[in-house]
Amino acid sequence: MLRRRLQSLRVYRNRRIIRPLLADHQSEVVWREKVESLRDVSYSAGIRSFQLMKAVLHSEHCVADDFVELYSIPAKEGRRGVSVSASCGGCGWCRKNGGLPYELEPSIPWSPWPASDRMERVLAGEFRSREFMAIFHDGFDDVRQKRTLGHFVEWLAHQGVRNLVIPSLLREDLRRRLQPFGLPIFFFEHYQELYLQPYSTAVIVTEPSSADDLRTVLASSRKRVLLLPEGVADPDGPHRRLRDVLTCRTFRYEEFMNRIGI
Ligand SMILES: [Zn+2]
Repeated sequence: MLRRRLQSLRVYRNRRIIRPLLADHQSEVVWREKVESLRDVSYSAGIRSFQLMKAVLHSEHCVADDFVELYSIPAKEGRRGVSVSASCGGCGWCRKNGGLPYELEPSIPWSPWPASDRMERVLAGEFRSREFMAIFHDGFDDVRQKRTLGHFVEWLAHQGVRNLVIPSLLREDLRRRLQPFGLPIFFFEHYQELYLQPYSTAVIVTEPSSADDLRTVLASSRKRVLLLPEGVADPDGPHRRLRDVLTCRTFRYEEFMNRIGI
């Protein structure tokens, strides 16, 4: 009985079901139009790989250039792509041409996490139904303002906002202030959705700011808290203040700090 059962199980496991993705896969037209083009691409890639391998063997250029070409994957719709940074400790070509060992800065990888904008109840309530809210400030030049900003960022982190887009001038000071703080904060120089970690985002803009950067931030659909200079101009109409045309909830910096008890 047991043996028969094992026998049937083995037969079942060895079974394979093949489901053709193209209904008329036996017709010549399908092979010519669908399969041949894929084979051509694969064939050219094989030739190019072979050329690169020969180039490496004969030191035709720096070996790093060949590896960058071989391992880079361009991004396209539905695919993130992979970028490769070059470094060489002294290949044949570099030695022959007097090149010194070098290592280029690795590019920051895109965030592998699915986008997520969850946040705690108190802050979520301030957004009402909008994707962003704006807080207008008068700058963060003096010590007191910098200290308040540190407390505010801590509060935001507890509320689920952990991506922080911040100008480099403010970043180091803030990083120092946050050192004893337990929750991770992810710092960014520019707002680029692909790099955001799976948290909500705060964007601190100070004067002068680039209109292109501001436009990108405003056009996004992710949840974000914007800290904007009081008099910042609308990037699409520099004659008017952004504050006068925003349709989201807006606050003055001190007003919002009072609301949350900082
Ligand atoms: Zn080299």
